[in-house]
Amino acid sequence: TQSAIATQFSSLEHALKHYFGYDSFRPGQRQIIEKSLQNQDVLVIMPTGGGKSLCYQLPALLKPGLSIIVSPLIALMQDQVQALQDNGIAATFLNSSLSGAELRERERAVVDGTVKLLYIAPERLLGDGRISEWLSQVYVSSIAIDEAHCVSEWGHDFRPDYRQLQQLRQSYPQVPVMALTATATERVRHDIVDQLNLKDPVVHLATFNRPNLYYEVRPKQRQTYDELLQIVRKTPGSGIVYCLSRKRVDELALKLQNDGIQALPYHAGLTTETRTDNQNRFIRDDVQVMVATVAFGMGINKPDVRFVVHYDLPRNIEGYYQESGRAGRDDEPANCILFYGAGDIKTVEFLISQKVDPSTGQPLEDEQRIASQQLRRVVNYAEATECRRIIQLGYFGEAFLGNCGNCDNCCNPKPVEDWTIEAQKFLSCVARVRERFGMGYVVDVLRGSKSQRVLQNGHEKLSTYAIGKDRSAEEWRMLGRSLVHQGLVDESSDGYSVLKLNELSWEVLRKQRSVNVAVAPGRSQTAQTSGET
Ligand code: ADP
Ligand code: ZN
Repeated sequence: TQSAIATQFSSLEHALKHYFGYDSFRPGQRQIIEKSLQNQDVLVIMPTGGGKSLCYQLPALLKPGLSIIVSPLIALMQDQVQALQDNGIAATFLNSSLSGAELRERERAVVDGTVKLLYIAPERLLGDGRISEWLSQVYVSSIAIDEAHCVSEWGHDFRPDYRQLQQLRQSYPQVPVMALTATATERVRHDIVDQLNLKDPVVHLATFNRPNLYYEVRPKQRQTYDELLQIVRKTPGSGIVYCLSRKRVDELALKLQNDGIQALPYHAGLTTETRTDNQNRFIRDDVQVMVATVAFGMGINKPDVRFVVHYDLPRNIEGYYQESGRAGRDDEPANCILFYGAGDIKTVEFLISQKVDPSTGQPLEDEQRIASQQLRRVVNYAEATECRRIIQLGYFGEAFLGNCGNCDNCCNPKPVEDWTIEAQKFLSCVARVRERFGMGYVVDVLRGSKSQRVLQNGHEKLSTYAIGKDRSAEEWRMLGRSLVHQGLVDESSDGYSVLKLNELSWEVLRKQRSVNVAVAPGRSQTAQTSGET
């Protein structure tokens, strides 16, 4: 392969220029392409817009035979193939949008060897678990799997069809595989390598930091709509407002329209025609604001989005990163604002409890458990007092030292207090009641309640009984919630909310970890004075 390339082009840069007209590679592209040409498996994790496509497109053109690209999104597939064809490159796609006659015609072109890049949906590649008969006659030189996080239940966009890709390795044991994604936690990365059977993959991990984005979390309250209006009116340029449900999208879009804002709705409940229409009008700047569910945005390339507002709580950090990341693709400053209210937690919890197997009606326990954990991380993010980037990037396994200078917590640090001693009291009380009770009960014991329940359990004899009289019940509950959100104690989510100690709790109890609690504005003073009494 290498020598064949050498005779054709004096360098990879020449090939790049020849096929795509670009002068240089983006960071990472060259290394990835070289590994691919050496027939190694590669896992590419690069943020959206980083230039992933080129990483498999160029090797596909330089290698003999056919390259297969698995992609889950029909629209994306069509756009990419169109762009390649515009560059004079022999590419085609196969998916459910084509008629039977069209499919067979394209299959014939592939068998005849007139196609270099074949984009295909997973179910079409491995319909009945095996490679289609016609395709087995073709020499396949490489396989790329786009949006590879879709194989993982731990990702934010699990697609059962992607599970079938496990068969690929058996069907093409010698063919190198490149998996690509814009989002993968460490867990999802492991899953991708596992599920796709990647062999000693070279992992290319680009930074996920987007320095031009300003991240902020604001409390959700009655005036939130007015705040939104202000953001929209004050920002010259367009923006996206994400809501949790279709109904809320429709309502908010209407409300904004009534206030003279050019806004349109977007969600899966609208007809394909309306959706495409609204999307195009947003991209063309006919309207300023797109009010949308998470259905909006994948594969949409509008570089000058100036703000992304989450009017409701996102379901997980990855989703939040992706959605807010649609702002400022042009690298100019943009704002990402999340409105956070405790009521949203209940809404998301309800949505999670609705996850049932459609055929049996049984709850999907694994999915529910994963979703609950992911929700906890979002709440943790929203309530955090540290640099937002530490949490976001940490979620993707990227260490960030903090103090980004471009998030609310760095620009306006919240007052925090050292509540380590209180946390130790709280957690030892959880231990004394044998991790069998919830927040309210633990607070009762701490405050020396004479309630029947406490007395019946004989808990007035515990060493932690009444050691917390110096703080109000509300303060203890605030601490308790903060401990839960910081992951310093676990709260079972089976409906009983029993507090359980975890490894981090023990670090606090062993004095190996201090505990800071953000103090709501105005209460800092009371907390301090009551501590002295
Ligand atoms: P991703 O799939 O990572 O989101 P794309 O592959 O769609 O990103 O690339 C994003 C944009 O960057 C595309 O418009 C692409 O043409 C452009 N691009 C990719 N590589 C280069 C390069 N080496 N030089 C200039 N532009 C590039
Ligand atoms: Zn910061």
